[in-house]
Amino acid sequence: MKPIFQPQLVNDPYGDPALYIEFLFEKRALMFDLGDIASLATRRVLRLTHVFVSHTHMDHFMGFDRLLRLCLGREKSIHLWGPPGFVEQVAHKLGAYTWNLVHNYETDFTLVASELTPDGIAQQSRFRCKAAFQREELEPLHVSDGILLDELGFRVRATILDHKVPCLGFALEEKHHVNVWKNRLDELGLPTGPWLKELKTAVLRNEPDDRPFCAWWREGGETRERIFPLGQLKQELLRVVAGQRIAYVVDVVHHDENARRIVALARNADFLFIETTFLEEDAALAAEKYHLTAHQAGTLARQAAVKRLIPFHFSARYPDRGAELEAEAKAAWKGAGG
Ligand SMILES: [Zn+2]
Repeated sequence: MKPIFQPQLVNDPYGDPALYIEFLFEKRALMFDLGDIASLATRRVLRLTHVFVSHTHMDHFMGFDRLLRLCLGREKSIHLWGPPGFVEQVAHKLGAYTWNLVHNYETDFTLVASELTPDGIAQQSRFRCKAAFQREELEPLHVSDGILLDELGFRVRATILDHKVPCLGFALEEKHHVNVWKNRLDELGLPTGPWLKELKTAVLRNEPDDRPFCAWWREGGETRERIFPLGQLKQELLRVVAGQRIAYVVDVVHHDENARRIVALARNADFLFIETTFLEEDAALAAEKYHLTAHQAGTLARQAAVKRLIPFHFSARYPDRGAELEAEAKAAWKGAGG
């Protein structure tokens, strides 16, 4: 199956955390964490619609300024999510600049900031460029099961973890993945085209099997079409399989409650991006600083049965030992006999 979501760390494993997730068929992206994004190309920054910030330690949030700088003057909206206290911090970030001329702009760049709290009530505010980024309160959102974003094909879920401050772990979950059998298209004499996306959408929306569906394409300057019952196309052309799952966990101390939540969040993930800040030989230091060791991270990955483990967020105390951090995490992931 061709994965729809393409996750990529913006920086090397010693750099600030930011996981850029691009959509295969759309000029759109999401991001988990907002550390230094100087190396992320402008056009890629401009594809972002949602950014989910684990917590506001500087290495996870300092990319806010670049995001703001590049979006300013554009007709664009970005939704930011973060932990308790986040909306106030976004307001302070914006409050650090002078906005006496922006009401003249033709565009109205808009930020919405929301914060997840343990009671599941998310406070939200909006900040519009034309209103000089003055805070406008929005109706609070009721978050159930940690679901921050729920769209037709996917959802983003968060869980609150303990880093001496609340720190969010995230998972991007594709609901179903719809594959097209290319050879069967040929057998039906149907060319590819935008109608295939419409077909997938109809299937994801659970529309009834007897609904007439129009396959259309352009041929010799004319629009051609053929009508089928949706159920027939579904059966003959498509294969619906489990969707992709990408989990992201940084900056957490190792204790039972965190471990339980991380394993639930990352269960069977195709990718787990997880901090491996310290080596196990420095486990005491890791605990003191509320971080994981590589061994602990790998063990969590094994318990969650993830398919791929990507260790990152290495401490600067190990400039030449990145390979060891990685090996320690992967050994624990594969288990003693693996
Ligand atoms: Zn950090």
